[in-house]
Amino acid sequence: WAKAAGGARWELFDADRNQQELARYALSAAIPTALERGEFYLDYQPLTSLRDGTMVGVEALVRWRHPELGELRPDRFIGLAEETGLIVPLGGWVLADAAREAENWPAGGRPAAPFVSVNLAVRQVHRPGLVRQVLQVLERTGLPPERLQLEITESAMMSTTGEPVHALRALADMGVRIAIDDFGTGYSNLAYLRDLPVTELKIAGNFVAGLRGCPSDPKTRTDERILASLVSLAHALDLTVTVEGVETAAQADRLRAIGCDAAQGWHFGRPGPTGQILDRLDRERQAAPLFIPR
Ligand code: C2E
Ligand code: MG
Ligand code: MG
Ligand code: MG
Repeated sequence: WAKAAGGARWELFDADRNQQELARYALSAAIPTALERGEFYLDYQPLTSLRDGTMVGVEALVRWRHPELGELRPDRFIGLAEETGLIVPLGGWVLADAAREAENWPAGGRPAAPFVSVNLAVRQVHRPGLVRQVLQVLERTGLPPERLQLEITESAMMSTTGEPVHALRALADMGVRIAIDDFGTGYSNLAYLRDLPVTELKIAGNFVAGLRGCPSDPKTRTDERILASLVSLAHALDLTVTVEGVETAAQADRLRAIGCDAAQGWHFGRPGPTGQILDRLDRERQAAPLFIPR
């Protein structure tokens, strides 16, 4: 009897798992139609200078307005899209749309308009046509290469040898910025910092969470020391450092003291529509009219 019950539980469990698999499969199968129907859109989040508070860049973050499931965050579908290869058309759309949008941004509180930072999946980095694709997007939109940044995660960087290295170097030679995303979360074999044309490190929010503005707490001190050494590593290699996940003024103050160049996080602005970026550029321009030659 107990055995039968156990068997039933297993069936239930399997049915559950199958259901989940089916749901995942259905979600990924829906990506091509969703692209056609314009169900994906981008939110934009400021990257703010810790020196003068101006917006140096903007990260484009994809969202899916699903007709039945509602608003989906990237964590729900990017992994799936990577597994199935659908990240290639999806990522291509993100790149083109972000560039088209960013081309309209004027300068704000600094001489140049902010760059737009686009996340690239491993598959995209390893795809033979990457350089041609980026060139085509820049040509079609008129966005200058210096105003495009490509974010590649540490783990994707580590698997990047051979052809992809040449592709990234060709892009960097054109003036495209290359950032390592979520730095400090992978197993950092730092060789890629030597071999790849990286311009910026984006340090993952994990270490920032410890900076609660309580300097006597040992965990805070350790996180600060880790951050400080990552910043000096970056600066020694002529890279700029952006820290992600900055949620409070106290965290921002500590990061400024440590010497971080820029920050991203709720304290400096949540991800939102492009209108929010335009408003902020407007405000910056009005606040600093004397310093900006126009
Ligand atoms: P990411 O590239 O590290 O992006 C930063 C994530 O942190 C975003 O989550 C952003 O909304 C969130 N964030 C920003 N400020 C704060 C803060 O102060 N506190 C906290 N707790 N979180 C903050 P989101 O938009 O859900 O994106 C998650 C991940 O999805 C991204 O992480 C990126 O890896 C991936 N992703 C997003 N868009 C794309 C895309 O177009 N292509 C690819 N391949 N991946 C994407
Ligand atoms: Mg990113
Ligand atoms: Mg990140
Ligand atoms: Mg991430």
